[in-house]
Amino acid sequence: MYLADYHTHSTCSDDGKHTMTEMAVAAVAAGLDEICFTDHVDVVNWKGEQTMEHDWSGAAAQFAAAREALGGRIKIQLGVEFGQAPENFERADRFLNDAPPLDFIIGSLHNLTWEHGRKDFSTLTQADEAFARRAIADYLEEMRALAAWGRFNVIGHLTLPLRYFNENLGMHMTFDGFEDRLEEIFRIIIPKGIGIELNTNRGHAPLPDRDVLRQYRALGGELITLGSDAHTPRYVGCAIRDRQRLLREVGFSYFATYEGLEPVYHKL
Ligand SMILES: [Zn+2]
Ligand SMILES: [Zn+2]
Repeated sequence: MYLADYHTHSTCSDDGKHTMTEMAVAAVAAGLDEICFTDHVDVVNWKGEQTMEHDWSGAAAQFAAAREALGGRIKIQLGVEFGQAPENFERADRFLNDAPPLDFIIGSLHNLTWEHGRKDFSTLTQADEAFARRAIADYLEEMRALAAWGRFNVIGHLTLPLRYFNENLGMHMTFDGFEDRLEEIFRIIIPKGIGIELNTNRGHAPLPDRDVLRQYRALGGELITLGSDAHTPRYVGCAIRDRQRLLREVGFSYFATYEGLEPVYHKL
């Protein structure tokens, strides 16, 4: 089975501590056939601050160095995890227009609304169920705007708020009751040739889970990538095999990697 990790971070992300070369060495050790680097580029950063410029030169240089060091042993692709585009689509377009040639773009949302300070979900230290449901509704509203813009290949970790409510705050939230909003998003992206990712979440609960994957598949969604969201070598390739099995169980026959923003399909 072809193994590709399509969501990884290096020192080109604020929260990454390892170079692309170090991460690629780990990918070879994990037996992967391919790794794609998807460092953060955000229109609003995790502190809720506007990002007015983005310098891509660090990513381009690290990518060249990683390919030089390991290119013969593993396929290495350059992508981006593009965050918070709905904040300012004009700026989002400008950042992407300035990018080096990219193979893959993840469209992500990480931040609470302005009403809640616009900070990253990871900064939440407490929440009750009513707050969490409202935050999920707001998140999906913004996701619909992101989907309508559509300048990316897959939606990243579609059920991301669950990572923070459940893993960090010990809650038991789900997206139950939000099926209509998810359907609306799927009906926007599927005809545009935009997919979703199955984020293996470094071995924790997959984002999204089985029920949401089933819903996407039932609506005709076929385009899906797999990524660990590794920020350290230890998690490169984490749970990719297991989640390939999950995809087969819910009726997917193929997963995708990307080449110059075009999907390449691999049998599951
Ligand atoms: Zn993310
Ligand atoms: Zn990420």
